[in-house]
Amino acid sequence: MKFALVDGIRQEATTGVRGTCPGCGSPMIAKCGLKRLHHWAHASTVVCDRWWEAETEWHRAWKNLFPAEWQEIRHVAIDSEIHIADVKTASGTVVEFQHSAITPQERVSREAFYNVMVWIVDGARLKRDLPSFRDALTYAPSADTEARGWLLSDRTTEIVERWRGGSRPVFVDFGDAEFPFSWLSSTGVVWWLKYVPRGRVIATPVHRQSVIDHLLTGASIRGFRRPTTPLRRLRF
Ligand SMILES: [Zn+2]
Repeated sequence: MKFALVDGIRQEATTGVRGTCPGCGSPMIAKCGLKRLHHWAHASTVVCDRWWEAETEWHRAWKNLFPAEWQEIRHVAIDSEIHIADVKTASGTVVEFQHSAITPQERVSREAFYNVMVWIVDGARLKRDLPSFRDALTYAPSADTEARGWLLSDRTTEIVERWRGGSRPVFVDFGDAEFPFSWLSSTGVVWWLKYVPRGRVIATPVHRQSVIDHLLTGASIRGFRRPTTPLRRLRF
């Protein structure tokens, strides 16, 4: 974890410092090696949040886009199960950054636990996901939406299929990625997957910064305009 309590105050890991887990109160050790991100680990083999995943650079970079006091927020269920949300916004939306694989069962239980939440998914974890997603777009019809988007079957490609069946917004971050559309930038884009009835999904590229701003301030998420329909040429 990024934060532990040191003398009751949330602090990042620094060499030699001992802290306690804000989740379960057990002792934590600062891990400040060269290989992994500096983080706190439980001193014993306690796992207080079974949903917690080791943080990647990708994970930490996303988390750091939000105020420190919104990061790693503890939640306790009625059965006293503890979970630590990656980010919880001022308006109460939980943001989970998901790098590793997650089973549909676990996804459903996290959605139920946090209720108001969004997923931001690392689309670059598996090399094959981006090319097959790109292929799927080639054959898909445009969605009838204001922003440019596509209507896909929710089994059309693996990354889309893996996230089907959920009921919360999913944003896939492929990182810098080329798509064969001149109007679409290769940077600063994430893909919003909106699962709709009858096994379909609307895939909409949106400005990454607008998703961040939406979570920070409630500003609207911005997609890309549909290319204007060219005037039909009159022919004799
Ligand atoms: Zn703990």
